[in-house]
Amino acid sequence: MEAVKEKIKSTADRSLQLSLLTLAPASWTLKQTSEHFGVSEYSAAQALELKKKSGILAKPEAKISSRRLSDDDKQRVIDFYISDEYSRQLPGMKSVKSVKQADGKRLKVQKRLLLLNIDELHERHLLMDKVVCSVYNKTCMLSGCPNCPGLNALESFLEELICDENENISYKQWTHTDGNKLETIVAASDDFIESLVSAIKKLTTHHFIARNQSAFFVQCKEKIDHESCVLVSDFSENYSFIIQDSVQGYYWANDQATILPFMAYMKRPDGSNFNVSIAIISDHLTHDTISVHAYLRPVLQHLMTLNPSLKSVQYFTDGSGAQYKNKKNFANLCAHFEDFKLQAEWHFFASCHGKSACDGIGGTVKRLARLASLQRSANNQITSPMQLFNWAKENLEIKCFFVTSEEVKANEAVINERMQNAIAVTGTRKFHSYVPVNSFQVNASILSGDDADFATFNVLPKPHEVFDFFSCNINDYIACIHPDDKYWYVTQIVGLDEGKREFNVNVLSPGGELGFIRGYKPTNNQKVIPLSHVIIKIQSLKPTTLRNRIFKLPKSEHDSISAKYTCQLANLE
Ligand SMILES: [Zn+2]
Ligand SMILES: [Zn+2]
Repeated sequence: MEAVKEKIKSTADRSLQLSLLTLAPASWTLKQTSEHFGVSEYSAAQALELKKKSGILAKPEAKISSRRLSDDDKQRVIDFYISDEYSRQLPGMKSVKSVKQADGKRLKVQKRLLLLNIDELHERHLLMDKVVCSVYNKTCMLSGCPNCPGLNALESFLEELICDENENISYKQWTHTDGNKLETIVAASDDFIESLVSAIKKLTTHHFIARNQSAFFVQCKEKIDHESCVLVSDFSENYSFIIQDSVQGYYWANDQATILPFMAYMKRPDGSNFNVSIAIISDHLTHDTISVHAYLRPVLQHLMTLNPSLKSVQYFTDGSGAQYKNKKNFANLCAHFEDFKLQAEWHFFASCHGKSACDGIGGTVKRLARLASLQRSANNQITSPMQLFNWAKENLEIKCFFVTSEEVKANEAVINERMQNAIAVTGTRKFHSYVPVNSFQVNASILSGDDADFATFNVLPKPHEVFDFFSCNINDYIACIHPDDKYWYVTQIVGLDEGKREFNVNVLSPGGELGFIRGYKPTNNQKVIPLSHVIIKIQSLKPTTLRNRIFKLPKSEHDSISAKYTCQLANLE
């Protein structure tokens, strides 16, 4: 046996090693084999398998080793190391073991331990592998293709692994309900298999989405130009004010402050990147969609100040139903351009994958505030949200804004009707990408990016023809979308058709912004305009010359027409 040991040690040929390992006495446990020959228990188990299958000194089949080294496998190992998938979420198999540990069954127990322990995390990936053709195929991972082995295959695999069906299995599982605690569970083996199979089923979908969304986030950050930005946000836990009392020591005040951090990824006109850390501080302690909308205003205004050519925002957040993934937020998303003069889309990280740079911002604010408060004298401590803000704006590299609870409530009153009218998207939770189509519809997809598969949903009632036909008379000026070129023009009413609710107008030229710069000039072009194409009745068009040949619009009215036009045009299509 010593000679065999020497031979095993001296060779680098793995198949020869395995072959020699089959010489280990049948009475030895894998542990004994592994210790005696100085090899891993995994090797010992492989040798045992080999001996059972092909006898002593058998040569392992080539395909075993080639499979173990395939590029696909390597890719998977790399993939799992860069993913945090495997440290949470799943019933762990790390400590899978038989409760019965009678000596007679020792080998079987160890074999099982070995099989499930080789590389706990990689093994889990292999379990997903049992269910689908490929963990990189979208169809297989999201719903299963007709060729996918499916859950039954995994069930059989596990049943084979756990031979004794009456055995109890104890295993560890991350529980979300109890603060992500690792909990030990004892269950009958078939219950264990059932729960593991259903976890793997969920994991395949989750795993694919998580990887896709993270990759899309990286891609978006790379693709931003000086007209776009990526904005990540995630509520921090409320800050509790700590007070130092010379007599009693420290205590926590009852007051709290909301901290909503943002990280914006932006680009300068010269092409260089810059990031902006922002924190909203507020005495409004409800973290919901309505407060988020109020907090967005100063943030977006700040970004537009930093980059006046900014035109669009891509939001990335977790899928919190209270704050982001709900009908009210999608109704606001449809009104985003109207509210903030920026196009927007909203992308969600997979659940448990929203951790971002924002954690750092919130953590920094709180940690330094606590420190500063304790260093100050007893009558100068930070004990209110406003004091926290005043300290933060002077002392932090983070751009801070204070939004009062009154401001949040005032904003709520403004958007209340929209909030009340919001319509739920069927299956909201499964979608991770929401892109507004117009002022009342969104496109939603399970995945963001190239693999997006959009369906359209109404998130607000379709706007009626809000324009009041009878508010206009002949000679009034109205801004319209031209039925032919779909651009907007200033026009003068020359006739009305009450029955058809149509206007006969004279078109002024040029249209839109060019006319705003040069002035709008009457032409002889007449056009019939349906009510749906009327944008607004013009209030303050003024002639610029004595001969009344050219008319000018004030900037405010031009901008309001231009904003309404964008929404209305989208609604027409
Ligand atoms: Zn995950
Ligand atoms: Zn498949």
